[in-house]
Amino acid sequence: MKKLQYERPVIQRLNTGVMNKFGKKTEYAPVTHIDGNPVKELISNFGSPLFVISESILRQNMKNALRAFKTRYPKVQFAWSYKTNYNSAVCNVFHQEGSWGEVVSGFEYEKALKNGVPGNKIIFNGPDKTEEELKKAINNGSMIHIDHLDELYMIKELAGEMSKRPRVAIRVNMDTGIYPMWDRFGFNYESGQAWDAINKILLNDNMDLVGLHSHIGTFMLAPSAYGIAAAKLCDLAMGIKKKFKKNIQYIDMGGGFASKNTLKGSYLQGMDTTPSFDQFAEAITTSILNAGFTEQELPLLILETGRALIDDAGYLLGTVISNKRLSDGRRATIMDFGVNVLFTSFWYDHKISPAQEFSPYTEDAVLYGPLCMNIDVVRENVTLPPLKRNDHVVVHTVGAYNMTQWMQFIALRPAIVMIDMDEKPHLIRKRETLESIDSHELMPKYLEKFKI
Ligand SMILES: *Cc1c(COP(=O)(O)O)cnc(C)c1O
Repeated sequence: MKKLQYERPVIQRLNTGVMNKFGKKTEYAPVTHIDGNPVKELISNFGSPLFVISESILRQNMKNALRAFKTRYPKVQFAWSYKTNYNSAVCNVFHQEGSWGEVVSGFEYEKALKNGVPGNKIIFNGPDKTEEELKKAINNGSMIHIDHLDELYMIKELAGEMSKRPRVAIRVNMDTGIYPMWDRFGFNYESGQAWDAINKILLNDNMDLVGLHSHIGTFMLAPSAYGIAAAKLCDLAMGIKKKFKKNIQYIDMGGGFASKNTLKGSYLQGMDTTPSFDQFAEAITTSILNAGFTEQELPLLILETGRALIDDAGYLLGTVISNKRLSDGRRATIMDFGVNVLFTSFWYDHKISPAQEFSPYTEDAVLYGPLCMNIDVVRENVTLPPLKRNDHVVVHTVGAYNMTQWMQFIALRPAIVMIDMDEKPHLIRKRETLESIDSHELMPKYLEKFKI
């Protein structure tokens, strides 16, 4: 046996806050500015809580993702996933970067059209498309991704009536080694459902099967799963070529790449566990390049990446309402934002930074939101320096889903500000008011008056 090499012992100073046997590193650099704008000033100008989006991070993320795919594959197209964040200013940043639109409802479809996305550059996903919405999508030449047989038959019928050939793809679900499997959307690969749907489309020729689609899951940490999914879609494309002598125009790998957030219960920080765009791109493009297409036949590769492009571009600024001691002695800090605006705190441990200078002393605390409701816990346990009433904090990596899944519950939804490439802030969504909520309510005449 080889003798281990001697290493001289070293004495290293333990800094408080660095990961040691007592626990995780505490965040001890305050975040006083976002893209050159003082947090205090943003809050005094636009209110608290406040969502802030960094346009420069959005564009940088998009460029990184494009580079990762385009250096490995000749034909790449991104389509912005509206449900991840459908604020129109946000969508238009992605459209300016060349992204098409990817929508999962009639409302999102209309929003994409209104933003100026040409109909034939909108991908229409999701299980719920009404007849009216489908007619519109067929007329506009949008890419309709069929989710189930009822939809397939409805489109066939409409194609007959409208004497227009719909451009369709099928959504395929499959076993990629990730469980539980997402088999509720689309047609299953292993059981033969997907091949059956393909036959039903191509043997009764009144629509164009332009693509094959999969969206295997969300917050995926395994690039290999995408490699498997791409191989299975390519296998279907090869089957189509063999039986029908037709080439598929595109393969759409959906979204789901993990963002840099930290999942609850995860030991390591999201920063350390999230694969890079290069790793996802490598897995996907290798599968497609090895599938047996000739150079001319290589399908367009579409990606519907959402969260990984926007999560770290979003911040939530908030203010301390109060501190108190719980009956077991723990410190509790009440913030002016809760699960109503930070929906993703149900599954992430967001990084939270104080926005002003503080002492090195830290204490574990429970972070509560302002709602009069027991479930309103932003963090069960977070190590923070003691924060005083009116101190501010910055919550990181909140750009994905919070601004679409937020609830108008007890409190009004906050404003959104985008900081542009020159570090200038723009209000891109107004704070809700009583009037904005009331504008949807109607009062029957006989209930207008009361005496108490
Ligand atoms: C939600 C969704 C996406 C985007 O997913 P992310 O996890 O945000 O990347 C893409 N495609 C489809 C069909 C979706 O439902």
